[in-house]
Amino acid sequence: MAYDPRGDGQKGLAAGDTIAAVATAVAPGQGSVAIVRLSGPGAERIGRQLFVAPGRQRWESHRVLYGHVVDPAGGERVDEALLLLMRAPRSFTREDVVEFHCHGGLVAVGRVLELVLAAGARAAAPGEFSQRAFLNGRLDLTRAEALMELVAARSRRAAQLAMAGLEGGLQRRINGLRERLLDQLAELEARVDFEEDLPALDGGAVMAALAAVRADLAAMVAEARAGEVLREGLRVAIVGRPNVGKSSLLNRLSRRERAIVTDLPGTTRDLLESEIVLEGVPLTLLDTAGIREASDRVEALGIERSREALASADAVLLVFDLAEGWTAADQALLELAPEGVPLLRLGNKADLLLEPLARGSGRGQAGEAAPSPQASEAMPAPRRAPSPPADLAISARSGAGIEALGPLLLNRCGVLELQGIRAALNGRQRELAAAAAVSLGRSLEAAAAGLPWDFWTIDLRDAVRDLGAITGEEVNEAVLDRVFSRFCIGK
Ligand code: GDP
Repeated sequence: MAYDPRGDGQKGLAAGDTIAAVATAVAPGQGSVAIVRLSGPGAERIGRQLFVAPGRQRWESHRVLYGHVVDPAGGERVDEALLLLMRAPRSFTREDVVEFHCHGGLVAVGRVLELVLAAGARAAAPGEFSQRAFLNGRLDLTRAEALMELVAARSRRAAQLAMAGLEGGLQRRINGLRERLLDQLAELEARVDFEEDLPALDGGAVMAALAAVRADLAAMVAEARAGEVLREGLRVAIVGRPNVGKSSLLNRLSRRERAIVTDLPGTTRDLLESEIVLEGVPLTLLDTAGIREASDRVEALGIERSREALASADAVLLVFDLAEGWTAADQALLELAPEGVPLLRLGNKADLLLEPLARGSGRGQAGEAAPSPQASEAMPAPRRAPSPPADLAISARSGAGIEALGPLLLNRCGVLELQGIRAALNGRQRELAAAAAVSLGRSLEAAAAGLPWDFWTIDLRDAVRDLGAITGEEVNEAVLDRVFSRFCIGK
């Protein structure tokens, strides 16, 4: 059953009250414009009550008015502002919307919001504007979620992915699959009731249709991981003995002097997090204190953090000092790294060596391009060898070899083949798509076992329902609340 907030079958009807929020980012002293947004039947009335537009400006939809926000109690001018009125249904929420475009800064905007609330609006909950847009049929659930992802995007690639979702890429794909299932379901259900009145149904063709949808779903689920990486980024732990050049590498990568580089071992005691974007993928770099036997409490804390960093990392950069060679302590660190997490051994300080420390093939030479994916597949570097060579030789000081690090790392994490992804399922959607694929598998089992038509339909109906929950076609209030509560206020 489609979600029907008012229980009267009129999905398109607006909620009764008028909501308001500051729709722009709120940080003290930042931003030259701030927007207070209202939506609901009282929006225009409140706008007219608080906004004085001099001259003969007319209150028309989609026209900007210039004037002042005035406190109706004492007539005090609170801000000089622009007002934008968008009458229903030509607005984001499909309700009457009024936006006050105020000067940035928290105080004046805060007062405008106070006046709006005093005039009868209610403070909007997180995501409530988008929720209204959804309830009023302006957006399906995948587009609403894409909108949130666009706001949260930390890289250009993530923003592109969100835009693809916002333009309906996911909605179309999922709806297409759901339609194909509904076609089969209709045929099957007709046979359950009126077998003898209808032409014979080709069970093999139905099975082929279900199997094709299941394969498409499986492909989308597989792509979802890549999309997740683009959206959320990768956590990369930089570990290594004290003084091998972890902080220098972090600085080099983030091109900022974030970590303090010194010659004293063990000075980087806290877990330093840096955000960078590498090849369009957001990375959180975790720089750890050198992991070694703790000699004092502070250092012990650092080591604890290193373990934490390793435990939470999607990938590990293990830095060692080429001039000193691979030591027992480096080996101990290698063994501390969790199994199954991609790990690159970076031989640092290549500039100190007279001869590049790479093996015969030239693989890993400072400044050389990363090995091609095929080459690294064909010759996987042993994780537990007594003296493993560097996956890449670098110099954090001169920058040699650093160029190759990004592609090599992303390749190891299986992220480089993301280029083709247009719109990808998020976590919620992926679970539903995976569940639908499992249901289709059950339907196919019932079919293969030669069971009657109605046995085929049981799980097929579940699959249709799960796909409907992705787009919001079939969804309950609890799910909606969960989805929209993750939005920011004013969106
Ligand atoms: P950490 O303790 O692992 O974070 O190491 P640091 O980044 O603090 O570096 C320790 C020392 O090694 C500093 O004096 C750095 O200048 C030096 N260092 C770091 N990277 C390189 C490099 O590539 N070449 C050379 N010659 N020295 C480096």
